[in-house]
Amino acid sequence: MHSPNSGDPGAGRENAVDEFDAIERLRARFEAVARGQYPHGEVPPSGDTWIGDDAAVVTTRAPMTDDQAKHQANRAGTQEEAAHPPTFQALLATDLIVEGVHVDLELCSLDDVGYKALMVTVSDLAAMGAWPEYALVSIAGPRGTDFDQLGAGLAAAAAETGCVVVGGDLSQSPTLVISTAAFGGLRGDTGYGPLLRSGANAGDCLLVTGPLGGSAAGLRLLRSGMAGSQAAAVLAGAYRRPTARLRQGEVARQAGASAAIDISDGLVADIGHLARASGVGIALDRLPVIDGATRDEVLHGGEDYELLIATREPDRLVGAFEAEELRPPIPIGVCVAQIGPATLEGHPLPPGGWRHQF
Ligand SMILES: [Mg+2]
Repeated sequence: MHSPNSGDPGAGRENAVDEFDAIERLRARFEAVARGQYPHGEVPPSGDTWIGDDAAVVTTRAPMTDDQAKHQANRAGTQEEAAHPPTFQALLATDLIVEGVHVDLELCSLDDVGYKALMVTVSDLAAMGAWPEYALVSIAGPRGTDFDQLGAGLAAAAAETGCVVVGGDLSQSPTLVISTAAFGGLRGDTGYGPLLRSGANAGDCLLVTGPLGGSAAGLRLLRSGMAGSQAAAVLAGAYRRPTARLRQGEVARQAGASAAIDISDGLVADIGHLARASGVGIALDRLPVIDGATRDEVLHGGEDYELLIATREPDRLVGAFEAEELRPPIPIGVCVAQIGPATLEGHPLPPGGWRHQF
């Protein structure tokens, strides 16, 4: 669902189906089936988050050896306790990279594409305050695809994030498509659950983990052949090799943040996702513009992969980032009770951001 800024596959097509309408219809279908599979409980079960957040949160039974199971049965005071082995929360995220939609192979190497494919998936776990553990990578590509180069980029991102690639699939295809799925968990016993989009409350402060607009500005410079200077190379790097803010997400969760999302579709679109899920409005008082980007690239560019964090305790968040020697988060506004279009310095922001059309 992250924002591609290299193409517009649905532009001009009549009766196009919007990405988010398609997701809602699929969600209704899958949840209807799940209700048959969970006849005695709610769907999703309490504590789970399925379709609609950066990553799905599911509760699964901890694997036990026979000895552990016996021990548990002996220890359990009642039969009911024995019948309910310990559970843990797992986080699941998946993302697609499609040649011509998300990446332009004239402007980045296959190495970059592989790197980005894993990183953008892992970014969705960062947005939940989770850490990636394992990934599956499926690649469909045309004849002549250089899997060594693609693999080098995937491996570099896997090494940087600590995410181990344990499987996947390969297929021939007219264009390059990479699907990456990641499995992760919440580290540390802090008592704080995953950071959901829906956790923000009126009065919460909003902060971002870094200035925005770099990826869109980098793409603009690459397209115009002006990415030669050192400053421009930084922006081109933001487009080619984004960084998942894993540590920032984890620290935010452990510092009691209330909600988070990664900036993939553009600031306006992503604050909209968080606002709708939380049932709040958003009032921004500043735009975190990276050097060299335009205001529009900040608002609608997307693919920055910085985290937008809501918290009731901004000082605690800033202190926790400082203690971990992370770049200070940038305050950009507050959540308000009045629901409606997000505002900047009191003026409504025009809607925008990427939406796939089908
Ligand atoms: Mg996301």
